[in-house]
Amino acid sequence: MDNLKKYINEIENFPKEGIVFKDINPIYKEPKRWNEIMMPLQNIVSKAKPDYIAGIEARGFISASALAFKLEVGFIPIRKPNKLPGKVIGVDYKLEYGVDRIEIQQNSIQKDRKVIVVDDLLATGGTASAAGKLIREVGGQLIGYAFLVELTELHGRKKLDSNLIVESIIKY
Ligand code: AMP
Repeated sequence: MDNLKKYINEIENFPKEGIVFKDINPIYKEPKRWNEIMMPLQNIVSKAKPDYIAGIEARGFISASALAFKLEVGFIPIRKPNKLPGKVIGVDYKLEYGVDRIEIQQNSIQKDRKVIVVDDLLATGGTASAAGKLIREVGGQLIGYAFLVELTELHGRKKLDSNLIVESIIKY
């Protein structure tokens, strides 16, 4: 999978000073490359047999919704504040570059349905861990996490429940 690294652009000091942003857009742009990175993700997620795939706004929606459509399982959006209608539950968390908040609709998951979180990138793990918390709070059975890219030196997986699936396709 390391052959795909040449299509991930590194943008220094974006969106903040000191951050090296991994831009995956050149992979999404080219169907062959996108397929190459999505196939192993699809294998991981289909083996887990989720009822739902949860995606995190905004970049996380790309891979999570594509996979949900392909595997014919439900898609649950986890969004930035004040975007979801009706009753929502939110959680604040630390990001590699700041503080943020994500929300989920309170009635989005029937009790004990199996949910896997799919996101573009695992950095410090704050976002994914917050997403997992939300899924559990609304009654879902969190079964794991799958990422396209993992920045291993930030040890994000330490923030995630080690009894669950935690997988990534491209590791830095
Ligand atoms: P974290 O909560 O620190 O694991 O950050 C993960 C989220 O922030 C993911 O949804 C990514 O889209 C985004 N993110 C964090 N760091 C980077 C980075 N260096 N390059 C690209 N996206 C990043």
